[in-house]
Amino acid sequence: MTALASSREAAQARAAVLIEALPYIQRFRGRIVVVKYGGNAMVDPSLAATFAEDVVLMRSVGLRPVVVHGGGPQISELMARLGMVPEFRDGQRVTDAETVDIARMVLVGKVNREIVSAINVHGPLAVGVSGEDAGLIGASARDPELGFVGDVDSVHPAILERLLAEDLIPVVSTIGADASGQAYNINADAVAGAIAEALAAEKVIYLTDIEGLLADLADPASLISRIDGAALQGLIDDGTLTGGMIPKIDACLHAVANGVGSAHLLDGRLPHVLLLELFSDEGIGTMITHEPVA
Ligand code: ADP
Ligand code: MG
Repeated sequence: MTALASSREAAQARAAVLIEALPYIQRFRGRIVVVKYGGNAMVDPSLAATFAEDVVLMRSVGLRPVVVHGGGPQISELMARLGMVPEFRDGQRVTDAETVDIARMVLVGKVNREIVSAINVHGPLAVGVSGEDAGLIGASARDPELGFVGDVDSVHPAILERLLAEDLIPVVSTIGADASGQAYNINADAVAGAIAEALAAEKVIYLTDIEGLLADLADPASLISRIDGAALQGLIDDGTLTGGMIPKIDACLHAVANGVGSAHLLDGRLPHVLLLELFSDEGIGTMITHEPVA
C-alpha cells in the first residue's frame, strides 16, 4: 500500500470510531451516569488522568456524570504512618472516633481534592461534596461493635441536582452523618448505588480492579458479560461472589431493582474503559439489568 493510501485508511478508521459513538451520544444526552471510582484506577497517576479525561468527555457530549469515590487503601496508609493498627472484624474495619476522623480527613481532604483537581485541569467543572453536605447522605451505625461504620439511611439529592443543573460535575466523598451530626464512614459501593437510585440514573458504573464478574475467580476467560438480578442472586447464594465483590453486587442489585437502567462492572486498569463502555459497540466488563437476560 502507498503511504498516501495507508494514511487515508488510518483517517477513515479514526472517523469510524467517532461515528460509532454517535448513536450512544444521542441516546445518553442529558442522562445521569453515576461512576464509582476506586481500586487501581485511583492509585495509578496515569489512569487517574485518563479517568478525568473520560469524565470531562462524557460531560462535554451532554451526559451528566456524578463521581463517587472510595479510599480504603489511602485511609489504611495514613493510619500506618500515624502508627495506628487497623482492626478488622469479619473483613470490616472497626472505626472508633479517631479512625472516622482520619477517614474523613483522607476522603474529603485528600482523595476528593485529587479527583477534583484532575478533572479541573480541563476546565472549571468539578465540585467536591461530602455526604455530610446539604444533608446528602443520612447514615446510622451498622453495628455498634464496628463503631462509626455507617449504612445509608437516606439520600437527599438536591445538592447534586443543583450542581448538575449548573453543568457541574459533583465528586462525592462517602462520609454520611446522622441526625445529631455524628459522621460515619460508609462503603462507597453502597453510596454509589443509593445515589444512582435517588437521581434515577441511566447507569451506575463501578470501576474496579478486575475484568468484571467472573464465574470462576481463577479464570479471567470466565467473564460474565450480561446477567440479570435473579441469576446474580443465585451467584451470591452459591458462594461464587466473595470479599469486595459482595457489597458491589448488593448495591447493583438494589439499584437496578429500583429504577436505575443498568449497572456495570468495568476494569479500571484499562485506560479509557468508561468511553469504551459508553460510546462503542464493544461489550466490555459485566452489565447487570433488572430485566431477565434471555
Ligand atoms: P474495589 O476497590 O473496586 O472496591 P474490591 O477488592 O473491594 O475492589 O472488589 C473487587 C474484588 O472482588 C476483585 O479483585 C476480586 O478479588 C473479588 N471477587 C470476589 N468474587 C469475585 C467474582 N466472582 N468475580 C470477580 N471478582 C470477584
Ligand atoms: Mg471494595
